[in-house]
Amino acid sequence: MSTILKGIAASNGIAIAKAYRLIEPDLSVEKKTIESTGDELARFKQAVEVSKTELQAIRDRAEKELGADKAAIFDAHLLVVSDPELLGPIEDKISSESINAEFALKETADMFVTMFEQMDNEYMKERASDIRDVTKRVLSHLLGVQIPNPSMVQEEVIIIAEDLTPSDTAQLNRQFVKGFTTDIGGRTSHSAIMARSMEIPAVVGTKEATASINNGDLVIVDGINGEVHINPTPEVVENYKKEFHAYNEQKAEWAKLVNEKSVSRDGHHVELAANIGTPKDLEGVINNGGEGVGLYRTEFLYMGRDQLPTEDEQFEAYKAVLEGMNGNPVVVRTLDIGGDKELPYLELPKEMNPFLGYRAIRLCLEEQDIFRTQLRALLRASQYGNLKIMFPMIATLGEFRQAKAILEEEKQKLVSEGMKVADKIELGIMVEIPSTAVMADTFAKEVDFFSIGTNDLIQYTMAADRMNERISYLYQPYNPAILRLVKMVIDAAHKEGKWAGMCGEMAGDEIAIPLLLGLGLDEFSMSATSILRARSLISKLSKAEMEELALSVLDLDTNDAVKEAVEKAVNK
Ligand code: PEP
Ligand code: MG
Repeated sequence: MSTILKGIAASNGIAIAKAYRLIEPDLSVEKKTIESTGDELARFKQAVEVSKTELQAIRDRAEKELGADKAAIFDAHLLVVSDPELLGPIEDKISSESINAEFALKETADMFVTMFEQMDNEYMKERASDIRDVTKRVLSHLLGVQIPNPSMVQEEVIIIAEDLTPSDTAQLNRQFVKGFTTDIGGRTSHSAIMARSMEIPAVVGTKEATASINNGDLVIVDGINGEVHINPTPEVVENYKKEFHAYNEQKAEWAKLVNEKSVSRDGHHVELAANIGTPKDLEGVINNGGEGVGLYRTEFLYMGRDQLPTEDEQFEAYKAVLEGMNGNPVVVRTLDIGGDKELPYLELPKEMNPFLGYRAIRLCLEEQDIFRTQLRALLRASQYGNLKIMFPMIATLGEFRQAKAILEEEKQKLVSEGMKVADKIELGIMVEIPSTAVMADTFAKEVDFFSIGTNDLIQYTMAADRMNERISYLYQPYNPAILRLVKMVIDAAHKEGKWAGMCGEMAGDEIAIPLLLGLGLDEFSMSATSILRARSLISKLSKAEMEELALSVLDLDTNDAVKEAVEKAVNK
């Protein structure tokens, strides 16, 4: 029977494919007495052999598709699964205690994991995580359950998950993963943001995707209307195929604007830039006519690995982006870790409110080695293009001044070491905490630019967790409370002759764009895939008319009233 789930449209587009459940299987085990230790030993050896064959295949494919360094993880797993120091004690336990293989494996492996984790040595700690992974694999074979591995799928699928972390999302294979849907998450959770930049249609916050969808079900992800269809009728599939076709035709129309400037009907130019997470995203920026990079989320360089990136690794990434943008502006944001972006290897204590906690600039000002390494890499890369540096989560002027002073110190050190650093590097801040928006006039005297981070600014202003689908109605970018703050920030920048951009998701929103044009925003930074649509929209708008509209909506009372007013004005 066909079922429809409603969720939050997180990434535009339509995908039709078979479901692939990305759900951790239940691997809990119980102690059991067995009758034949010989049979049990044979069962254990068989599970080990299957795991070995499987790991070898994954290793070879990883080497081919992801490179030798990613394959090395599986080499380490292969060593563990063949290690007599681990296998011997498990087999002894099965024989001497007449217990089931699952329990003997779990108990022995846990003992080794605890031992390695307690060692004060990074290498040994990593071995603990290898043993944990291998144990999971062998256990899954003993229990007859499957461990999903989406980076290795070989057919077109739609991922079904309770939630996806940003690093899960980064590892999705773009060739085969056609869409995804999750039980939880909001429009500005980072997996949703990444789905947009990867152009993977997504619906998040469906509450019951994992409960309703089985492996192999035919699924339609409608990322335009926020719907997920499970085992749809042939008529529904046909209609969606037509819609998919119409959507592609519309995209082809927008694509004609790829080399055009972004100019309103009455000749006002704005800059349409892209948000990126890795140098790999540059291709999308160029293909979509991005006039710059308005936000490079550098934290993704630090994810999906087990140690901090070195100064040289970072230098190479920043240089690649600066060179790739050919002298066009590139705003690089310093490390913004925390909230939903975790770095397990930093081993930070769990917090009650991670979005309000020890994160981003707060962490960088404390863990200065990490911060200084990044700043040095950035300064060294600065000679390869038009670099602007931006600090995230600035709440006070003191934080900005401290961060700026550290940057200056590193610059002086590099210069005295004979290193070339660009003469002028603009230095700006994310305005994403209400205190900073309110104090924008003071900040504007000291910074070179602002970039308004509405994903956080809205969550902090409305006191509504951006990850929580239950309160997603409070993500209200058109609420006059938000628009008034945005206006304050833009006006404050202009009063001091500085520029103001926006890199939150609101900058690419069709209802917000007319208002932001009217409020005088200079730079709009969005998922690369939204740029051409935004350029087309702006070319149809008059800046003078939008100024009037923006001023008039500031006095309306609700998000919906503003939305209606914009729709009426723009579609008249
Ligand atoms: C924002 O908060 O609006 C922003 C652009 O940063 P992030 O989404 O990475 O928190
Ligand atoms: Mg933010």
